Amino acid sequence: MKFNSYIFCLTIQRNGYNTKLVRQSNKVWKGLSMRTGDNGYIKELNYKLILDTIRTKGAISRADLARVTGLTRSTCSVTCERMIKQGVIIETGKVDSTGGRPPILLQINNRAGAVLGLKMMDDQILGAAIDLGGNIIQQHSLAMERDLPSEPYLQRFEEFISSILDIQRKDYPFIPILGMGIGLGGRISSEGVLLDSSVLGWSMVPLRARLEKRFNLPVHIENDVNTFAIGEKFFGAGKEYDTFLCLSVGEGTGLGIIINGMLYDGSHHGAGEIGHTRITFDPQAPRCTCGKQGCLEVFTSDRALVEAYHANTGTTVTIDSLIALATAGDETALKVFARAGMYLGTALSTLVNLFDPQAIIIGGERTNAATFFLPELQKHLEENCVYDLAKEVTLTVLQPSNDDWIRGVAALAIREFFSTNTLWRE
Ligand SMILES: [Zn+2]
Repeated sequence: MKFNSYIFCLTIQRNGYNTKLVRQSNKVWKGLSMRTGDNGYIKELNYKLILDTIRTKGAISRADLARVTGLTRSTCSVTCERMIKQGVIIETGKVDSTGGRPPILLQINNRAGAVLGLKMMDDQILGAAIDLGGNIIQQHSLAMERDLPSEPYLQRFEEFISSILDIQRKDYPFIPILGMGIGLGGRISSEGVLLDSSVLGWSMVPLRARLEKRFNLPVHIENDVNTFAIGEKFFGAGKEYDTFLCLSVGEGTGLGIIINGMLYDGSHHGAGEIGHTRITFDPQAPRCTCGKQGCLEVFTSDRALVEAYHANTGTTVTIDSLIALATAGDETALKVFARAGMYLGTALSTLVNLFDPQAIIIGGERTNAATFFLPELQKHLEENCVYDLAKEVTLTVLQPSNDDWIRGVAALAIREFFSTNTLWRE
């Protein structure tokens, strides 16, 4: 009974999730139990399992698909023929085979759809159209004045989205636009309301409702560090891991948490605020933008780095000139970065003790100075972890790139599309 064993496996796997998700999965489990005799429902589950396997494994033969999914070869073949007819997957090159006819491989038809990925920042907006494989079709940016109130900002944002949609519909009319993913620094409710954002200075803005009404497309909104983590899981360095942490360094210090393959954003959408974790009780510690004192971010943000250099030398620098000074061997500049590395490594050791992740991925614009903070970060990460947990963690530092952020926000919409794939259902 292939179908029953598949349902059983799914239940076991889901039970491994955290408490919140276990509650959700119980619903799923009950749903599956009550519907085991429902052929249409089983077909739908098989369709989703096969599609997800082809997406994550890349090009795969029908035989391997049956082996990986545990479904029969005939179920795989029938479902794949349906997907090929729908244009969801395509047949691609053949693999080397020792004797006999080499099998044809199957892969996702990346151009079966595209989504818009948008990142809202206080000084600029990034936007791109991206296909289902994470390939950027067109990409744009728009400079913004800092500290704009929500209404003038959103009017310009909507014009920016319209211009990308116009180009997409004109130049790529054969690729349907499936939705948009938006990332920004702040706390976002499940309904897509921006609850508060210290970056933009707004609160209680019903972003999703406004944009869905304006563009008549599904809109998915998430905290930008969370989109970074989702993007790494979907397309990037986190693809092979189930439980990992994404640390972003730059203007702020943020954390995205993936547990058992899913984003953990907390009970009130506030998880991952590592930058505002108190790391010292020194009464002289600087005050943070959040209003509290001694947060990690007052030692690790761009602003903290240039202020530390000024405090030690009396010289005002920008973050770029500070990096240039460190590159030239300026001792104070090197010490400023090393101190940030010490605080980041210590904070990460606490996170490793809490989450026991397989990997830590460091991204964000300040990875362009990783040479100067990474040695101290690694030293304090290893020294402060309990047992030898740090030795089991793979540390990856990404090259700074806006493409990763854009793919991350696009992954929000693409992920949703793959989990519902309503376009492809008959
Ligand atoms: Zn703070």
